Amino acid sequence: MSGIFDNAITSIALGIEDFETGPDARMLSAARNYYAGLLLLAKECLIRAAPEADPMEVIGAKFKPIPDGEGGVDLEVVGYTTVDLTQLKSRFKDFGLPWPDADINKLQRFRNDLEHYHLKEPVSALGEAIASSFPMVVDFFNLLGEDPHDHLADVWDTLLAQRAAFEKVQKKCLASLEIVDWPAVVTDLDRMECPQCSSSLIGQADPDNADREDVIGKCYQCGEEIPFETMMQMVVNTSYEISAYIMAKEGLNPAITDCPECWSSTYVETGEASVCFTCGESVSGECARCSTDITVFEYNPDYPDLCSYCAHMSEKIMRE
Ligand SMILES: [Zn+2]
Ligand SMILES: [Zn+2]
Ligand SMILES: [Zn+2]
Repeated sequence: MSGIFDNAITSIALGIEDFETGPDARMLSAARNYYAGLLLLAKECLIRAAPEADPMEVIGAKFKPIPDGEGGVDLEVVGYTTVDLTQLKSRFKDFGLPWPDADINKLQRFRNDLEHYHLKEPVSALGEAIASSFPMVVDFFNLLGEDPHDHLADVWDTLLAQRAAFEKVQKKCLASLEIVDWPAVVTDLDRMECPQCSSSLIGQADPDNADREDVIGKCYQCGEEIPFETMMQMVVNTSYEISAYIMAKEGLNPAITDCPECWSSTYVETGEASVCFTCGESVSGECARCSTDITVFEYNPDYPDLCSYCAHMSEKIMRE
């Protein structure tokens, strides 16, 4: 067993113990330890995937070329800086290891927030960060072929309890959102964030409401009510941000755009869906002259039945 693995276990255990017993003031060191422990576990996964290599060559962050005396170069590790979260993710990819599908960003952000601001309820916020990153601990141990219970026995019950409590609330939140008659497909609703406290425990204030127009959000961590417009923006962003990013990268029109009817930035245009989440309007249709599909980008309120080309042509004819 390597020193890194031992350090990972110690850090995680220390973090959880502080979280369990410590006063608010200890939450920062609890978060630091727990986060560091998770990263060390990930580094151990890389090291074990290349058992013959020098560990620093696997997890080192900086390399410099040194001439090998035969006309080529060797890469040599510089200093003792090791990979950060972003580099870890890409190295997992290079090594063909699956990166766990858990929300470690929440923990990272939480730790940063604690460093810079005073959080009102650090214990419950850290509890959520620990709970939402828990699947990651399990996945890393799986990759390592180790049983987490063997190594984290003293704090394992706390981890499980946090996860269970979190899942119970999360399930209710998601159930309350899933019954809404959304105008298009929604995804990743568990990745939304409370504008007030960053919690992902967002549901409906009235869990039985099924009408989109009556959706009022509520954060089940801090109690904040989230107004309709903000909720629609959050739902659209979490569901379509990735396709918006990919489409922009490929030079296509964005998937999320301003609605021509109500001007909210909640109009979703994917080719399949073409509808505004705020006002529910859809401008899509077939051009009355040439039968081209009309998207929101083609749409001209003066010529709602024509594609942009035909609208342009009839304008020209009118002028002549
Ligand atoms: Zn909140
Ligand atoms: Zn609209
Ligand atoms: Zn046309």
